[in-house]
Amino acid sequence: MLELLVRGGTLVTPAGERRADLGITGGQLVEVGEELTGAATRTLDAAGLHVFPGGLDVHVHLNEPGRTHWEGFETGTRALAAGGATSFFDMPLNSSPPVLDAATFQEKRALGEAKSLLDFGLWGGLTPLNLDKLDELAGAGVIGFKAFMSNSGLDEFPAADDATLYEGLRAAKRLGLPVAVHAESEPLTRHFSELARARGAHTAREYLETRPVLAELEAVQRALLYAGELGAKLHLVHLSSGAAVALALEARARGVDVSTETCPHYLHFTEADLERVGAALKCAPPLRPQAVQDDLWAALLRGEIDMVGSDHSPAPPDRKTSENFFALWGGVSGAQSTLSVLLTDGHARRGLPLAALAALSALNPARRFGLPQKGALEVGRDADFALVELGREWTLTREDLQDRWKQNPYVGSTFSGQVRATYLRGQPIFQGDQFDGAGRGRLLTPRRSAGAV
Ligand code: ZN
Repeated sequence: MLELLVRGGTLVTPAGERRADLGITGGQLVEVGEELTGAATRTLDAAGLHVFPGGLDVHVHLNEPGRTHWEGFETGTRALAAGGATSFFDMPLNSSPPVLDAATFQEKRALGEAKSLLDFGLWGGLTPLNLDKLDELAGAGVIGFKAFMSNSGLDEFPAADDATLYEGLRAAKRLGLPVAVHAESEPLTRHFSELARARGAHTAREYLETRPVLAELEAVQRALLYAGELGAKLHLVHLSSGAAVALALEARARGVDVSTETCPHYLHFTEADLERVGAALKCAPPLRPQAVQDDLWAALLRGEIDMVGSDHSPAPPDRKTSENFFALWGGVSGAQSTLSVLLTDGHARRGLPLAALAALSALNPARRFGLPQKGALEVGRDADFALVELGREWTLTREDLQDRWKQNPYVGSTFSGQVRATYLRGQPIFQGDQFDGAGRGRLLTPRRSAGAV
């Protein structure tokens, strides 16, 4: 007897789209096939809908504990569920204290298990303060280690200098885990920022000039060199330029074990939007000119980018309000809109195949980060999926938003394709405008030494 039978939908699989039913028992997919006939306790009619594998967002900042008033598990995971995600990885900052040892890992884990709608993994930090804690973080179950190559904006999470990055990569290699880097050059961004401050710069345009693509490329190249030398596994978060993706591809061709991530805001917005919208679009690396975005899209459409993570990172309104653009907190609220951007800007406008879209949002992250139970609608995997009404045009309103502060640059965007329901391990976590299952989310720990994408 099946617990749940999902009938009549169009499955989005790595091989393409196919009409098939899903048979679910014990939270897992036990049958996938046309016209399944077994008896089921519940049946879900998915006729007319596409069934996507639940999204795995590898880059989220929920800020709990310590900055829960910025964003927390409760509101943040609602936003993710409404956007079709079923799993996510939380960054070691901006929670306070940041996750730099096993005790802070366990504190965040307990909060996630009490409140999260989604299954979740936790990144540990790699900073000059905690090189001696990487083993205990690995033992606790981190997905990998996150380092900043430039100032993180928080004193409690200092940037990894070259020696820290080198030693962190060496330890991560030994532990069979990846190191994720925010790749922007600290010397260059600091230099340009000091010049800007000295001349009284305060506008969005002047902020853009302090973080050029060059700063990203220099740091990417350095991280690739270290990872290659050490044979360590490197993940490049939030790449903003096609040129950075090209550096990663060249390195991969020489045998460097690297994966690449970009974010929906780099794909949906440009510098011109930053000057129009302001604080809600401040981030680092910053938004880019149209030509750079065109290169990024071209790389994505060629299959050269491995995954798209939201880098959802909200802050309260008082941190997002200032006459001085440099004083604003950097971070974009986008957890709810990743799939919408890929469906609209990718599939509808640029012909991104749905199978490629599902690889970017689910399969590649699951493979790269050692979670074989996630990422695809296949027998033996968790029954994590989103029901999507493909092609439906709709406009995102503030009332649709589930994140804490709703200072969200996507409000007013018209999207093609809408998430109708999201299921985690066979149970609905989002349906219509209802959410269910807070605290059902479980900690995800990686199979170490997971493979390339
Ligand atoms: Zn981030």
